[in-house]
Amino acid sequence: MKNKKKHIAILGSTGSIGTQALEVISEQSNFFEIEVLTANSNSNLLIQQAIEHKPNTVVIADEEKFQEVNDSLCPHNIKVYAGADALAQVVEMDTIDMVLTALVGYAGLRPTINAIKSKKNIALANKETLVVAGALITNLAKEFGVNILPVDSEHSALFQCLVGEVYNPIEKIYLTASGGPFRGMNREQLANVTRAQALKHPNWDMGAKITIDSASLMNKGLEVIEAKWLFGLAPEQIDVIVHPQSIIHSVVQFNDGSMKAQMGLPDMKLPIQYALAYPQRLNASFPRFNFMDYPNLTFEKPDTHTFQNLALAYDSMRKGGNSPCVLNAANEVVVDAFLKEKIGFLEMSDVVATCIEKATFVANPSYEDYVGSDLESRQIANDLIK
Ligand code: NAD
Ligand code: MG
Repeated sequence: MKNKKKHIAILGSTGSIGTQALEVISEQSNFFEIEVLTANSNSNLLIQQAIEHKPNTVVIADEEKFQEVNDSLCPHNIKVYAGADALAQVVEMDTIDMVLTALVGYAGLRPTINAIKSKKNIALANKETLVVAGALITNLAKEFGVNILPVDSEHSALFQCLVGEVYNPIEKIYLTASGGPFRGMNREQLANVTRAQALKHPNWDMGAKITIDSASLMNKGLEVIEAKWLFGLAPEQIDVIVHPQSIIHSVVQFNDGSMKAQMGLPDMKLPIQYALAYPQRLNASFPRFNFMDYPNLTFEKPDTHTFQNLALAYDSMRKGGNSPCVLNAANEVVVDAFLKEKIGFLEMSDVVATCIEKATFVANPSYEDYVGSDLESRQIANDLIK
């Protein structure tokens, strides 16, 4: 069968998800073509990727790198733009079929909104966008008839379990969590953990921000909120279970008590490919799971007394309005400060908690309110860290 190739824009092509997406696309070149690549400031890698994958256009967010990228790609007839505005606008190109949002943090919000308004389907890795503005994004997706296909492994798992279950209500879901490198530690031990220890994730090799979020359980907190919006769930329908082997990627429980789980080796290429190719499953050479390598799959309750971020995320989800936006902004500031060794591991959740307490509450935020809340929360967090 001859397919029309899907034309893909990758926002954040130089990151962990971005580079793995390019590997998937190279292996599946009968199905996909690269239309746009973007990066924050890694001009060398962006240039190299563009020469190899021949996109129509690239965007570098860091404007100081424009000249260098343009000089390198002009001979290849690749258009080059720079800056956050260009990044937000490039997704509107008619030739794009799907946008993979693989950039990190709040910076994903504006381009995702524009992509939805331009009726591009979204393969969503950038969970922060749904955490910040889940109501706005899901309403826009409905209005413009756009699919949001999860790339996050847990949400891809849930999405795969829900295929064919359109009319069957979900009773609850279990998001699995590896527990990160500090699973089993108490607060005393956590007080002295270092940046280098936090950056060593047992099962996944990811960008720095999500790796710290995984160590602090904020990643699972963000994923709880992401799941609420993707699957239209109430807070009490979302549970987290620690599963250190990361083989079961998440579980749906239906109203007859039946549970469906999706499992496989921890490898982001599978959920990336599933989102890009949906509803098809493409033949792939990913390593296969062997039961004998994992005779024991184990499960534990998450320790929310020690890892307070997970409790904070649930609280902000229940509070609603701009509260998750405030949580996210404060978290971006503290993770950056922790990575720069300006604050300790436990201080991260202390600062986030204070930001949620102090920031102005907005019950039904508009886009402008999210922008304001993000700024306000960053200011409060930065003042606390100084
Ligand atoms: P990363 O840090 O490895 O890469 C981030 C990419 O975004 C880079 O290409 C960078 O140039 C670009 N970028 C960063 N800041 C930017 C900005 N302000 N403006 C424009 N571009 C910017 O991150 P990652 O690990 O690939 O994660 C990307 C997203 O995917 C995050 O939201 C993360 O939570 C999510 N995610 C990642 C994984 C994983 O395995 N890495 C798994 C699930 C979800
Ligand atoms: Mg995940």
